[in-house]
Amino acid sequence: MNHQLVERLRSLIAESTNIVVLGGVRVEEECGVNSVRLENAAYEVEQKYGYSPEEILTPGFLQNRVEFFYDYFKKYVIQSDKLIPGPAHEAVLRLEKEGKLSAVITRSPFGLYQMAGCSNVIELRGSIHKYRCMKCGKEYSDAYVMQAPGVPYCEECKIALRPDLVLYGEQLNNGITSRATEYVNKADTLLVAGSSMKTHLTKYIIRYYRGKKMILVNNRRCPNDDRADYVVYGRCDEILPMIIE
Ligand SMILES: [Zn+2]
Repeated sequence: MNHQLVERLRSLIAESTNIVVLGGVRVEEECGVNSVRLENAAYEVEQKYGYSPEEILTPGFLQNRVEFFYDYFKKYVIQSDKLIPGPAHEAVLRLEKEGKLSAVITRSPFGLYQMAGCSNVIELRGSIHKYRCMKCGKEYSDAYVMQAPGVPYCEECKIALRPDLVLYGEQLNNGITSRATEYVNKADTLLVAGSSMKTHLTKYIIRYYRGKKMILVNNRRCPNDDRADYVVYGRCDEILPMIIE
């Protein structure tokens, strides 16, 4: 750990007034939550279902094999018992309480920032907590979906619900993405936490940042890390509490 760097980042964050946090899936993985891609359990899933997570979480499966889709979704994706915010989420909340945080942008759909208490979270890939009837538009919760035996149906229309999640093969929602880039564009400090700089989405979003205070905190070295102005390698649940007082 480079203590001088930590010290420098602490004062840099203390001086900032318009911070945007770009949170990657690793922040949730540190809390024991599997990413939707299930990197740790992908083999187990493939053995059990005969398909990879990327093949199951598609509009085709939702439409044509909905029992299969929800069997998998309830067992592997929702993970209600694991959804507890960690020290990194708490640190981000402190920024909000100090009035320094303008938005959290994340592609994690697990809602841990909101559970910690953050109020402005932009979820680029949607949320596992929301489900919708595509006929009448009525919204349902993950609790409703978990309680339903098998496939969850709309109470009114009796048709299968859809998770409010961007599935594989689907486009991100343009409105949500451009809201995210507007925040990044205006930020004085951009804190990229638990994400590599090489994913398409991160690369796309950080292009909009115009400041000189892009801080990357990640536990592994990746290509393009030098795109950030400051880089700290380590766990977000250790580093974020150190640099956010
Ligand atoms: Zn309905």
